[in-house]
Amino acid sequence: MTQTLNDQLNAYRAGLDAGRLLLLSCRSCGKRFHYPRHRCPGCLGDGLEYTEASGQGSVHAITQMSTGGDGSRLVAMVELLEGPRVTAAIVSEGEVSVGDTVVWASAEDVNAAGCPLTFRPVPSAL
Ligand SMILES: [Zn+2]
Repeated sequence: MTQTLNDQLNAYRAGLDAGRLLLLSCRSCGKRFHYPRHRCPGCLGDGLEYTEASGQGSVHAITQMSTGGDGSRLVAMVELLEGPRVTAAIVSEGEVSVGDTVVWASAEDVNAAGCPLTFRPVPSAL
């Protein structure tokens, strides 16, 4: 049975709520992608299933955004180990650069960043 976009979104959000980053995989061509869609962006197939991402990736691009006053936050495009790129918050006490390795953050970091897609540099990358 083909899932609707709402089915895809609900499953994706349930994954985030459980601390899991889910990627859709196409049964026809094998493409993995993020964010939820009801058809594969590679072959337009509708046979899709969720798989859990490893939570590992690297910084593809990064910027510092002002949050007003003296506040700011790091926002990055993270290339996941599985290939898709996601826009995410970065929580770090140090500098973060393009190419640094990052991992899916803890629930504590997610709450601090106020963003469900949050990553943290691995200690060796600091
Ligand atoms: Zn496909």
